[in-house]
Amino acid sequence: MPIDAHTQVVGVLGYPVRHSLSPTMHNAAFEALGLNWVYLAFEVPPERLAEAIAGMRALGIRGLNLTIPHKEAACSLVDRLTAQAEAIGAVNTLFWDGDTLVGDNTDAEGFLRSLLEAGVEPKGQRVLVLGAGGSARAIVYALRQRGASVWLANRNLQRAEQLAQRYDAEGVLPLDAAALAPQLTRFDGVVNCTPLGMHPNEETMPPLPIANLPAHAWVCDLVYRPLETRLLREAHAHGLKTVSGLGMLLWQGALAFERWTGTSAPVAVMARALLEKLA
Ligand code: NDP
Repeated sequence: MPIDAHTQVVGVLGYPVRHSLSPTMHNAAFEALGLNWVYLAFEVPPERLAEAIAGMRALGIRGLNLTIPHKEAACSLVDRLTAQAEAIGAVNTLFWDGDTLVGDNTDAEGFLRSLLEAGVEPKGQRVLVLGAGGSARAIVYALRQRGASVWLANRNLQRAEQLAQRYDAEGVLPLDAAALAPQLTRFDGVVNCTPLGMHPNEETMPPLPIANLPAHAWVCDLVYRPLETRLLREAHAHGLKTVSGLGMLLWQGALAFERWTGTSAPVAVMARALLEKLA
């Protein structure tokens, strides 16, 4: 669809932002559905976020995603927060409800969809979350909402304790192989929310003694560059079910797409666009 005077604009604000796969995923979706929309990446430093969102209001930009470092700061720049954005304390999607600018968070639901799609139902399970940063907040919230019991393992224990308290998690552990080894038999699943294993440090992985997990356990890695991280490779080699971070990226995007356009997202098209870019 050629860009013309009717083209609707959406995009992502980040700093940095040039690595983002969201333009590829969303523009493929617009093209597949014949929608006259375009998705752009805007590099906005933290001190200019308020101006950028005021600009969105003035220009009639139809929706935005927010990525690092804007997810928390954007909470105070919208007219209303959804219940999940409020509970997580971070916004990754802005959309219009009439004249009201709404701050939403599709990360938690996107993560949950990716697990369910992979055949993992965390309800009633015991799940170990590695990390206590921004993404861990959405993951712990999603797991608790679904009815899983959650433990956190982090390098900075105080940070993990704060998160555990906020979402009523069961306990915290040091992110350390010796400390985790005797504990792992009780977990049904593990989610890596640290950047360990991410390109270009592909040979690193979280200090998780995988052999101590029960045979039915699953391992999810939020890192999606590379698609199969060392953690997932080793989990797979031990016969465990693995879930890549690509699913969460895809589903948080699909949910944002639906908020903006009111149309079902062409998820298969979006997945293919992501895979082509990451291959
Ligand atoms: P943050 O920087 O907010 O948090 C990082 C966490 O990892 C912290 O708990 C930190 O521990 C821990 N950590 C960082 N480096 C080390 C290290 N060398 N050793 C031990 N622990 C470490 O990052 P995010 O939560 O935003 O992102 C984490 C990862 O998840 C990234 O790789 C990101 O790309 C990915 N991600 C994927 C998404 C998807 O859609 N698939 C969505 C969001 C994120 P401490 O508290 O001790 O500093």
